[in-house]
Amino acid sequence: MDFEEYRKHGKEMVDYIADYLKNIRERRVLPNVKPGYMRHLVPDSAPQDGEDWNVIMEDVERVIMPGVTHWQSPHMHAYFPALNSFPSLLGDMLADAINCIGFTWASCPAATELETIVMDWLGKMIGLPSEFLHSNKHAMGGGVIQTTASDCTFVTLLAARSDAIRHYRANNNDLEDAEVNARLVAYCSDQAHSSVEKAGLIGLVKMRFLPSDENLSLRGEILQTAINEDLQAGLIPFYLCATLGTTGACAFDNLREIGPICESEGIWMHIDAAYAGTAFICPEYRKFMTGVEYAQSFAFNPSKWMMVHFDCSAMWVKNSGALHRTFNVDPLYLKHENSGAAIDYMHWQIALSRRFRALKLWFVIRSFGVDGLQKHIREGVRLARYFEEKVKNDPRFEIPAERHLGMVVFRLKGDNAQTEALLQTLNRGGKLHMVPASIKGKYIIRFTVTSTYTLEQDIDRDWNIIKQTYARIVRDDSAESLEDEVFEEAHEKETVKEKEKTSWKKNREFGMSLVLSNVPMSPKFVNGSYAAFFDNMLEFAKEITRTDCTERPIRLSPRRRTHLRDQSKQQTLDIGSLSANRNHPFSKQGSLDSKVEEILESYSNGGYVIKYELYPKDLSALTENEQEENDTVLKIEVPVHTNSATSETTGKKKVETKDASNGVRMFCKHCGHPVDVDV
Ligand SMILES: *Cc1c(COP(=O)(O)O)cnc(C)c1O
Repeated sequence: MDFEEYRKHGKEMVDYIADYLKNIRERRVLPNVKPGYMRHLVPDSAPQDGEDWNVIMEDVERVIMPGVTHWQSPHMHAYFPALNSFPSLLGDMLADAINCIGFTWASCPAATELETIVMDWLGKMIGLPSEFLHSNKHAMGGGVIQTTASDCTFVTLLAARSDAIRHYRANNNDLEDAEVNARLVAYCSDQAHSSVEKAGLIGLVKMRFLPSDENLSLRGEILQTAINEDLQAGLIPFYLCATLGTTGACAFDNLREIGPICESEGIWMHIDAAYAGTAFICPEYRKFMTGVEYAQSFAFNPSKWMMVHFDCSAMWVKNSGALHRTFNVDPLYLKHENSGAAIDYMHWQIALSRRFRALKLWFVIRSFGVDGLQKHIREGVRLARYFEEKVKNDPRFEIPAERHLGMVVFRLKGDNAQTEALLQTLNRGGKLHMVPASIKGKYIIRFTVTSTYTLEQDIDRDWNIIKQTYARIVRDDSAESLEDEVFEEAHEKETVKEKEKTSWKKNREFGMSLVLSNVPMSPKFVNGSYAAFFDNMLEFAKEITRTDCTERPIRLSPRRRTHLRDQSKQQTLDIGSLSANRNHPFSKQGSLDSKVEEILESYSNGGYVIKYELYPKDLSALTENEQEENDTVLKIEVPVHTNSATSETTGKKKVETKDASNGVRMFCKHCGHPVDVDV
């Protein structure tokens, strides 16, 4: 592509994007594709010769769009918003063209300097104390743009960890660094985002999840008690991640209470305000920040609600020294004349390279102005309130936690199953998209106003679909007539009969929703690396599913570690474990997300016998030595345990799993529970 072609196609792309966003309502918000859909649409290998641009662009609608979840759609109510805006898109277009890698000041002075300036602007816009600003010459603080809120938590945890070890070693000589590390303990509430748990996991420190109060808020007394217990036990409390605007229900930890405790105990308080942070541009919402002055670090995602598209996480620290002490490596080739005199952001983050993200932030702040951004936030909150009113006025529904900002959580009164069924049916329809969360044992649906294009009539339409879907689920005939109206809009031509076939009662699949909702009690599904600890998908599926045999699906079974030895490589779920058995009905394509429910389903449907053979050898034919060597040899023909009616129970159906530690074991086909048999 030459300059002239770029001018031409670039303008076409701008038009394509404008049309896409303008007409986004017409697209089904959640795609209706099956795992592996794209394989059939593209060739197996890359083209040898370059292709014509028009041919490539035609494939966007053919290949890409059918599998896109349209996050900018007004009918997208899942997760939190991930908004873009034209100034943001244009800012990044320019940044991508410049494509500097601003790790040091010298590697691109404008990138570093603009970042310090807009981070000061933004800090002032949300009312952060001046110690967090670069312009405050009496403090070592300042802001930096990180990739994600998860990074912010991890980076600050690492900084707090090195500080804690340093402090301890300065006063005590009895322990090595690693021994101090082993005693460190961090805190967050049971409502904290899964990334906080992950930060503890990969930061190699204990993370204690403290119970939140009835408003889902972390309180001082609980924290103080935990600290006292841990000190008693010889541990070293060092870090707390407080959340403003939790993922589950947008709740706020009580900084006024926990802040002073952190200060007096020498604990680094980090604040994760990923979603809610944008709202603090409006002074009326800053009440939730009271106590922020006790924090050592604060982060929020302009990439969520502030219309600066991903990636852009704003993070501030009071004392950048802790970051430097943690991340400073200073090789000679990165030194420059002004080293030390200017900020080198490479010392504030994990990676070396960094994008020129300040540009899109600068464009957005300047284009909208503080007033424009406030208006945007207030409109989002107004629409959420509008939805809340509708739910409140319907006696079949309840709002189990107070609405804050642009998010409403709601559920059907009564047990969880109906709400779950409702959400599942809604998501399958694809006309609007929401995800669930679990609040103190209650299954709830999260409704967020995500789009900048959302109007009251979009909310009306979505609320109607929710009501009609509910009516369908309870077979409430009185609402059947309205149903047609709503479902006529459907792009799909599903007959009612077909819908019933996929009814929730026959299939416990949540779609992608629960799997990706990223809230307490669900994120385990997402963690692919966790699965690598298991010899097969079944083991993994069993491990993460803790329902009793009688209820379906499957309860927890002990995991076998022995096989890990022989599967020396980390495996992804997509390929590794599944490909070990070519007999099973699951395709190789597909991630954990889409597979777990399917596997549980086929595992527990009674008729399916799992056969798992890594080597097509008869175990008994091997010598003992060979058996030792081949301890991954595994042959399962699973029986049914307890009083099932099938004849399989009586026969001693062989479940032979040979492993070095356990010998031969049998497991129930339904619940994975070990079964006693004579071998
Ligand atoms: C969205 C969110 C996160 C995760 O944000 P990433 O930028 O994707 O890491 C963390 N914490 C809270 C409270 C969130 O809402």
